[in-house]
Amino acid sequence: MRWLSFLWVALFSWFPWHHPAVSRPAPIIKQVLTTQKVVALTFDDGPTRTWTPQILKILKDNHVRATFFVIGSHAIQRPDVLKEEVDAGMEIGSHGYQHLTLRQKDSQLVKREIAQNEELFQSLGVPKPSLYRLPGGASDATALKVLGEMGYKVIGWSVDTRDWRRRFSASQLAERVMNQVEPGAIVIFHDGPNSSMATVDAVKAIIPQLKKAGWKFDTVSELLKLERLPHHAS
Ligand SMILES: [Zn+2]
Repeated sequence: MRWLSFLWVALFSWFPWHHPAVSRPAPIIKQVLTTQKVVALTFDDGPTRTWTPQILKILKDNHVRATFFVIGSHAIQRPDVLKEEVDAGMEIGSHGYQHLTLRQKDSQLVKREIAQNEELFQSLGVPKPSLYRLPGGASDATALKVLGEMGYKVIGWSVDTRDWRRRFSASQLAERVMNQVEPGAIVIFHDGPNSSMATVDAVKAIIPQLKKAGWKFDTVSELLKLERLPHHAS
């Protein structure tokens, strides 16, 4: 009967007791829980040849590291601009290959949209992204589950500049950031085709103002490291 107990052991170790097949959907992180005056600037929809280099220059001149959520189909047209972002020490997150809205989509299609960007990044020598920003901020349980399974952290925002509407002046955009900034804030701007000079000028204006008020800047991944766990008394 020895073979029988062996069979039991084999069956027991094969059965996924410790690794349930059902994975949880990735949560959407909108702000990092911290008391430190650190903020993350993020830029979606690029790279573009018009706006991205101007924004990069401001960031570099001010020694500010930010996070760019890149669209693959834009990056493939201007890989040199993406390379400039990487060389400047910016964090590169994924914003999908086609900027596909991940709501009511079949999970295979969601996977394809995400994987295609990974493949492009790999072909351009850009590290595999660990952050994903949802186009239009739209998602459903299927999309969040796929993103979780593929190892992504889904990054939302706590300060929405609404710059992509191209309806606001630079000072209105800057004012929105200055009024809404909080420790651990994630600010959303755009360097895509819907961006404008107002975005560039707003970024130029807020960096010195925030620095003067004691704020520091970092990438989203660095900001996440400052997360203070709610149960951790300090
Ligand atoms: Zn977008």
